[in-house]
This record gives sequence, C-alpha cells and structure tokens, in this order.
Amino acid sequence: MPKYALVTGGSRGIGRAVCVKLAALGYYVLINYVSNDAAAAEALEAVRAAGSDGELLKFDTGDREAAVGAITAWQEAHPDDYIEVLVGSAGIRRDNLLLWMEGEDWDAVLRTDLDSFYNVTRPCLQPMVLHRYGRIVNIASLSGLKGLPGQTNYSAAKGGLIAATKSLAQEVAPRGVTVNAVAPGFIRTDMVEGLDEAELRKTIPARRFGTPEEVAALVGFLVGKDAAYITGDVISINGGLYS
Ligand code: NAP
Repeated sequence: MPKYALVTGGSRGIGRAVCVKLAALGYYVLINYVSNDAAAAEALEAVRAAGSDGELLKFDTGDREAAVGAITAWQEAHPDDYIEVLVGSAGIRRDNLLLWMEGEDWDAVLRTDLDSFYNVTRPCLQPMVLHRYGRIVNIASLSGLKGLPGQTNYSAAKGGLIAATKSLAQEVAPRGVTVNAVAPGFIRTDMVEGLDEAELRKTIPARRFGTPEEVAALVGFLVGKDAAYITGDVISINGGLYS
C-alpha cells in the first residue's frame, strides 16, 4: 500500500525539491501547481527518477472551491487511502512599500500565502485524525518572523501562517498529527530572481543563498517518525541571518 503525500507548489523551487525528497523516502507524491504545466511534468519525472511515483493535481490553492473540490475528488477516488503528509509550499510575493502597495497586491499575497493554509489543510485533516497519524509542514519565511521592509503583505501572510501552525498543532497533537513551519531565509529559486545576490550574500553569515534541497532535507526530517515529538514549532533555515 503506497503512502501518500501532497505538496502544494510542487512544480518548482522548494516544493519541487520536497517532492523529490518525499519520493526518495518512498511516498507517492501528489504534485500541486497552478499554471506551469511544463515544470510540473518535469517535477513528476524527477519524482519517478527518485524511485517512486506520483501524479499532478493542478488547482489554485487560493481558490477554496477549487482546492476542496480537487482534494475531495482524489479522496473519493481512493477510499482506502489517505494523504498522510501535507507540505504547503505554494506561495508568491508582490513586494512594495506599503505607501505604494495596491490593494490587489495585498489581496493576492494574503490569498495565496495564507488562505491556502485553510483551503488545503482543512480537507486533509479529518483522514489524518481518523488514522491517528499525519504530518503537516508549512513553508513560512524569515519575513514572517522578523518582518522585512517592502513585504508587509508577505510578512503578514507568513506571520499568520506561523500562528495558524501553532494553533493547529495544539488541536491535533493528541491524535498523532504534527504541524510545524519551516522559515527559510534566502533560497535560490525563481522567487528570488531579480534580487541582488552578490550584495545580499554579504548580510548572510554563511555568505551564500541556501538551496531548495537543503530545505527539503529539513522537511524530510520533520515528516519522519523520528520527529514525532516536534510540533507547533518554527524551524529557521537561513544561514545565520536572524536579524
Ligand atoms: P517558486 O520557485 O516561485 O515556486 C512557487 C511554486 O508555487 C510553484 O510551484 C508555483 O506553481 C506554486 N504556486 C504559486 N501560486 C500558486 C497557487 N495559487 N496555487 C498553487 N500553486 C501555486 O517559489 P519558492 O522559492 O520555491 O517558494 C516556495 C515557498 O517557500 C513559498 O511559500 C515561499 O513564500 C517560501 N519561501 C521562499 C524563500 C526563497 O528565498 N525562495 C524564502 C522564504 C520562504 P507554478 O509552477 O504553476 O507557477
């Protein structure tokens, strides 16, 4: 019987690396994404190359009806299985000083980076609780811990995600379900394209950006049985860039 994992934003960046890590750990991986079909197909190939299998689950995590519909349809098609690992990595950023920030950029970031937590986690939760085993890992951000200028929308969403992680962890801990957040600093993905890496490296004690594989290794630990006593926590992975 395969074990199932769902990774939102699994087509690129950190989510893609998490898909490959989970495949290497033996999970059948449901790869969620919203628009980039070619990247998603390539991520599925990488999952297969890692020795497992998976499938694509295309939906906008910020769209409640779409998210609940896709997850419920999968559950109805697999009545004997359940998603035991959920990694929420779908995210966007639309940086600007608050003075100049348009309402649509506030709304888009809150919708994708925070509402997605509710839209995707809730339909996955009951089967985890019934099976008395589950692992939920939310990809937050250093920005959600300390705030960053130009990111009031993103910091608010990620800070909210961290708070939701802590609350949910306390709700489901008695049922064997752990809920944690990972807070990366700068990780080399499409999301940081356009940032001045040479300049920013000087501010990072480790003097480099992290890799998606390094974040995936941490997620791989958190979803394992050995991490059963870690819940409601936020684990930073930022090369020493705490403030
Ligand atoms: P990325 O390379 O830009 O990839 C974003 C992924 O999210 C893609 O798979 C994309 O799908 C998916 N996505 C975006 N909006 C979506 C939506 N509405 N519904 C479903 N999927 C959606 O980003 P990344 O750097 O890997 O970031 C992953 C997570 O880590 C994000 O939550 C981000 O905030 C967080 N993070 C990143 C960094 C960093 O330095 N990179 C630092 C801290 C936190 P498509 O391919 O279809 O577009």
